[in-house]
Formats: sequence, C-alpha cells, structure tokens
Amino acid sequence: MARISLKDRIKEGLFLLDGAMGTQLFAHRIEAGTCNDYLNIEMPDTISDIHHSYFEAGSDAVLTNTFGANKYALARHGFAEEAVRINTTGAQIARRAAGQERYVLGDIGPSGDFLQPLGNLEPEELKHAFAAQAQALLTGGADGFIIQTMTALDEATIAIEAAKSVSGDLPVFASMAFDRAGDGFRTMMGVDVEAAVSKIVSLGVDAVGFNCGTLSLDEYVELAEKFVSAVKALSDDVAIYAEPNAGKPELVEGRAVYKVSPEDFAAAAEKIHSAGVNIIGGCCGTGPEHIKAVAKKLK
Ligand SMILES: [Zn+2]
Repeated sequence: MARISLKDRIKEGLFLLDGAMGTQLFAHRIEAGTCNDYLNIEMPDTISDIHHSYFEAGSDAVLTNTFGANKYALARHGFAEEAVRINTTGAQIARRAAGQERYVLGDIGPSGDFLQPLGNLEPEELKHAFAAQAQALLTGGADGFIIQTMTALDEATIAIEAAKSVSGDLPVFASMAFDRAGDGFRTMMGVDVEAAVSKIVSLGVDAVGFNCGTLSLDEYVELAEKFVSAVKALSDDVAIYAEPNAGKPELVEGRAVYKVSPEDFAAAAEKIHSAGVNIIGGCCGTGPEHIKAVAKKLK
C-alpha cells in the first residue's frame, strides 16, 4: 500500500519525530568538536543505526544528520566544498532506514553567523546556500524539510524561502529556540512567540514550532500553551510541532548533561499534546528511550 503524503499525514493526529542526533553520537563515543555532519560520509552505519533505533522506539519520521550541513557551518570544519555530498548522503541514509512506510525530514540548522549589518552574511548568498542544501536533501530522498533552532527572524525567513524554492509540493517545517524572558519567552535574538509565529505562518509553512532552548519541562508546557494560542489566532491549517530538550542541562565536567527521565519527558509531552501540539519529538539530551516513553503514553 502506498503511504499517504507527509503533508496529509501531519494533519491526521499525533505524529512522532525522533530525538537528538548529537546526544546519540556522544553515546557512540564520537568526540565533541567532530563535524557530526561529515559522519554521513565517514560512519554511515553509525548514523543508520541511530535512525533505526528511533524508528524502533516509535518515531514516524527521522531527521537527517545534516543540522550543520550548510556551507557556512561546514566551513568551520573545512568541509564547505562537501556540502552537496554530505546532504545527499545524509538523506539517502535516512531514506534507507525509513523504508517506504515512514518519513524523512531534511534537517536545516542555522548558519552560525548573522546577516549584515550585525554579521557578515549577505542575504542572497545565504539563501543560495540554504537552497543548495535543500536541493541536495531532496536528491537524497527527503519527504520534506525541517528548519530548526533559529534565533533570528531574518535568517529563519531566508531559510524558509530557500526551502520553499525547491520543495515543490513537499512540506516545510520551521521552528525557533526560545528561552525564558520575564513572563514570556524570547529567542536569543529577542524574538517573542507572537512575532515568530506570525512571520513564520505568513511564509506559508506546513508546520511551525519550537525546539531546543534552555527551559525546564514545565516551561516547555507553558510555551506550548502560548504557542498554540498564537498559531490558532492566525490559522487552523498549519500544524504545530514541539521538540523540547530533556529539561535544563547541568554542567558536569564542562559538558552539558540532561538528566530528565524518559517518564518525566513523556509526562510533559502528554501535556504539550493536550495543549494542541500534534507533532512531537525531542531535542538535546533526548534519546530513543524518551521517544519510546512518549509513544507508549500517547499512541
Ligand atoms: Zn537542542
């Protein structure tokens, strides 16, 4: 039986994403400072194993291991010239793991720099770089795109426009990373929930959400409630997604450690789902056991 398109599937109730890739690579003894994205070329079996572990845990989709695979982020590791190969291979690895039943989202993260005049990025060049990444992900077999951990609205806008320029009929997801700010939440660059949601929804995405950030599980639930009301005030068509971290990190021997149990994570996911979020996954600190606990509680 042919599966339904990802665009239709995300409108049909609960849809589970995966958990972190970086956290799992660390568990596989990949050292900090490694170019995680280049592991698509160097250690494809490890990446494939991680995708499989998420599908076994209950994920409906996995994200490609390409979060830092735009030419700017890759340049910091000396791999800018390898962007197309890293993205195409990353999508192929995830596609094989997903088979024909489940889905692959091509992961697009921030450049790590700022647009002019704050930073050095030139808008047209940035758009070209994101479009090249999205095209390579498409070539490798992605079913859609997920733009994540954005903190600046201008960069998020350019990434969404770039993905949409090559996506055709495939869906585009976009999320920003929020921190606590007074009574509400803002990204590191000062964007509040209403400003993020209204801009991202106006760009015609299929799903809008939040991921990462430095919040406790209770704060992620509160953010979900605010987020859902902001989206519902504008549109009933756009899906909403959440990928919280496994709570706030604690610094242990210079490394961020996340200590939230899978059960506590699943309890928060249940509240986030009740608030009106239909697409749920995990960001930093989450692993297959967190997704498994969410699947057990919600599916
Ligand atoms: Zn994260």
